[in-house]
Amino acid sequence: MELFRRWGWADRVREVAPLPVEWSNAVSFCVTLTGQEITRFDHCFGLYPDRVDFASELGQQIPQPFVELVLREAVQARPGCTSMLGWRVTDLVQHADGVHLTIADESNRSAQLEASYVLGCDGAQGMTRQAIGAKYVGSADQRSNLGMVFRSADLWPLVSHRPAVHYWIVHPGNPALMGRLDLDDRWWMIALGVQPDDVDPTKLIRGAVGAAVDVEMVSTDPWTAKMLVADAYRQRRVFLVGDAAHLNPPFGGHGFNTGIGDAVNIGWKIAAVVKGWGGDDLLESYEAERRPIAVQTIDAAQANMRVLAGDLYDNPDVSQWTDEDLRFIAGRTQATKDAEFHSLGLVLGYSYDASPVIPDAPPRSETLDVTEFQPNAEPGSRLPHQWLRDGSSIYDTVGPNFVLVSSTSAKGDAERFSDEAAERHMPLKVLTVDDGATVTDYGVGLILVRPDHHIAWRGATCPNPGEILDTARGACAGR
Ligand SMILES: Cc1cc2nc3c(=O)[nH]c(=O)nc-3n(C[C@H](O)[C@H](O)[C@H](O)COP(=O)(O)OP(=O)(O)OC[C@H]3O[C@@H](n4cnc5c(N)ncnc54)[C@H](O)[C@@H]3O)c2cc1C
Repeated sequence: MELFRRWGWADRVREVAPLPVEWSNAVSFCVTLTGQEITRFDHCFGLYPDRVDFASELGQQIPQPFVELVLREAVQARPGCTSMLGWRVTDLVQHADGVHLTIADESNRSAQLEASYVLGCDGAQGMTRQAIGAKYVGSADQRSNLGMVFRSADLWPLVSHRPAVHYWIVHPGNPALMGRLDLDDRWWMIALGVQPDDVDPTKLIRGAVGAAVDVEMVSTDPWTAKMLVADAYRQRRVFLVGDAAHLNPPFGGHGFNTGIGDAVNIGWKIAAVVKGWGGDDLLESYEAERRPIAVQTIDAAQANMRVLAGDLYDNPDVSQWTDEDLRFIAGRTQATKDAEFHSLGLVLGYSYDASPVIPDAPPRSETLDVTEFQPNAEPGSRLPHQWLRDGSSIYDTVGPNFVLVSSTSAKGDAERFSDEAAERHMPLKVLTVDDGATVTDYGVGLILVRPDHHIAWRGATCPNPGEILDTARGACAGR
């Protein structure tokens, strides 16, 4: 949501989201949807009822087709963009100055395009990965699952629990996750560990609900969890973005976030190169920065998958479950599932520690604390968030270019940075920490912040601003 705010679309995403944040921020574990609630988690997935200090935006639960609606609107409204829905890329050939693409529409009419750069955002089944000679490496879970979208007008009135964005059904005969897609009659459900060919979807839903509700099936979607990352993200002018580059199990809800993070990372870098102030190291840094984040995210999502709804208790005869059994399940759930719902350490706390354009980033600790988010102003990390005196977020001032956050005592250095940036035609804004505390001091004289909010460099003073800027813009030694 912070990255959507950066693009100017966060409000629109909230406007079209069918479940407002105020409706619920909880995940509930129950025997069946209409059966007893066992335990619940609050403030899941960054969903908070009020503004928080550590982030410019709160989380938002939203079905993917609604996000895609906002993305389509944004592309279609942007001058210079042409959206060609229904066309697919059938061939991609790189030459010295660009990329030649062959595209085809639904009636197999074909056309040719020339591009300076190509982002392969074409998902797991796309063609770009193969076209650049890359392949996924990793593994897949053995269990298959069935995703379902359905309508049921009489279901919500039967649910006596407080609202939740997810209901986890721990009944061993019908382990599942389910939730409302809107405040009308639309629901989603994932039946865990079922062979799609052997099951009746309506029966699965009724089993998880614990009542013979009327169901109008909208769609069914069998899937298995995959832990895959492409062995290369780039070949010259073509880059892999999103699921085309990595696939993680959906537990924790990190797939879409990670793709948006990729898009922001490569987006400003290509813009910098096209505008002439960015160098090739900037493009090279995309894989060095984003691939380790994909690996880290896959590891966290795989850990979430170790205990699923059907694994919480081994007595399959629910009629025998006593209050003591339910207390045991509640304790086990709290002990094993917290990181799946509270993962700000993973989502906001990641750092680019192996990047050619952030050489001073300290190495990440071997063990990531997924749940605990500790903001820090080290190179590689996301600039710790703060609200400014006028009520805006510090990220709103960063905009599409670099920002130098400077204490008043570092004013001379900040001016030299500005001069050196101007010489390189590199847009740079200086934000001075002042006594009126418009910007709270980060405890260091100078912090160079990139357009994606990550810190490129920091120091008490700076004798060589030109070198620092050349490294950050990926143009060391004039490259
Ligand atoms: C069951 C399940 C639950 C999930 N839950 C969550 C969740 O809660 N939160 C979350 O963040 N993520 C979740 N995800 C993951 C999320 O859906 C993906 O990470 C996300 O859709 C990836 O977006 P993408 O744009 O990279 O790829 P996709 O959504 O796969 O889009 C790729 C697009 O490229 C198009 N395409 C393919 N080939 C070509 C071609 N040759 N030319 C042109 N176009 C082409 C496709 O038609 C498609 O439209 C879940 C995934 C699953 C399976």
